[in-house]
Amino acid sequence: MAAAAFLAIRDRVTTMTIDELIGQMANHLAGRAVKIRWREPAAANALAQTYKAPGGGLIIDVTPTVNDETRVTLLLHELAHARLDGDWIPESNQHAQSPGSVKRTDAERAAWSGNPREKRADDLAKYWMEFGKNNAHKHTGASEGWLIPVYKALLTWQPIENKIFTLPKG
Ligand SMILES: [Zn+2]
Repeated sequence: MAAAAFLAIRDRVTTMTIDELIGQMANHLAGRAVKIRWREPAAANALAQTYKAPGGGLIIDVTPTVNDETRVTLLLHELAHARLDGDWIPESNQHAQSPGSVKRTDAERAAWSGNPREKRADDLAKYWMEFGKNNAHKHTGASEGWLIPVYKALLTWQPIENKIFTLPKG
């Protein structure tokens, strides 16, 4: 229900729908084409997930039943994975599995949370969120709330400082 309302609102300035705006922003931040789905991911107990389908297409699931701030934070984290880890993510058919159906063992969860790629994705997501909020005032239109100006600001981000998001050696 949150997602439906979220996607139904129209951007009055450009007549672009919010999902079109998010799609442009997502491709821009990821540096490659990504497909966004507002649904619970296949991985059990996960709020968001990035998959690579056979052939290399990236798909991102973000659970819709969270507040705006959390949903954007989750999306930016996954877009950071798409940008930084897109070549590393293995191809699979997991995106085609039912929401919450892919169980993980404790060992798999520990390996996931301890992976430096998670910290790096968090760092880039935080950086993008700050960039978006700090520049949103340049993109504020009437009756747009706070999210659309943040998305528009992120469309102007340039990856000049991408080098700070490197993985430790080893
Ligand atoms: Zn992650």
